[in-house]
Amino acid sequence: MTETPTLATLTEEQLGELISDSHAFRNQPALRTCLFPPCMRQYDVISCMKGEAPPRPEWSGDGWRVLGSAALAGGGHICPEHVAIVTAHMARPVEVPNGRWMVACACDWMSRPQTYGGLLRPLWEEHVLTVTGALTAPPAVTEPSERLPLADHTEQTLADLYELLEDTDADREQTHDAARAMYKAWDWHRHALGGVSRAVVAVCNMMRTSADFLDHRDWMADRIDAYLWAVLIGFDDDTLTQVAATHRWDEHRVKYVREMRALLAPITTAPATDKES
Ligand SMILES: [Zn+2]
Ligand SMILES: [Zn+2]
Repeated sequence: MTETPTLATLTEEQLGELISDSHAFRNQPALRTCLFPPCMRQYDVISCMKGEAPPRPEWSGDGWRVLGSAALAGGGHICPEHVAIVTAHMARPVEVPNGRWMVACACDWMSRPQTYGGLLRPLWEEHVLTVTGALTAPPAVTEPSERLPLADHTEQTLADLYELLEDTDADREQTHDAARAMYKAWDWHRHALGGVSRAVVAVCNMMRTSADFLDHRDWMADRIDAYLWAVLIGFDDDTLTQVAATHRWDEHRVKYVREMRALLAPITTAPATDKES
């Protein structure tokens, strides 16, 4: 073992070594490996970013692509050879109920939901390897229609069945949750629309009452009144033509009024039969 030299004992040679060591340390390559599963190609990010020649020719960043962090597993780097295949199978994580995640691939493939997010990347890698033929696809789970005779069952087929059963249990819970969420949303909208309907019908009734009994108001005489009546209650075609002529509504206004009337029709025309249950 050499002792650490002091300033007094330091030789020219040692000084040279120190300088070249520190130089190498400052210029360490920062290698990134290709995202594609079996690919071991690497490139040097530092020299690539600086636009300098890489420390070794095979570490050149020419043609490499960087995948953003929104992609699966926080992104990564793709070598020129695998840009096409990774682009065709660009994947993203998708959250599903019960705190589970799955991978959605650009080719429409989806993984089964997983509780552990760390499994998403390996599942995608398995998918890409299967698609490229490097892996053979796992045998499909036996369809329920093709029932296996009892004598043919093995430990494995039983385990598969139990797994299927557990999956079904989880699926049922998720379906239940989704149905509940949909019911809640529907119920909220039903109540909101019921309230709007009652309020609009109350206004329409007030207008009819004022026309027939209260002050015998002529809702066609004033252009604002006529407009409100046309939208909230509606005129028949002949009356609408007459009102439009009186107040000089052009065809666009008439069309607009008809459109608004049609939008309100379901909540004003249909009687509010919505009994609280
Ligand atoms: Zn590659
Ligand atoms: Zn895919």
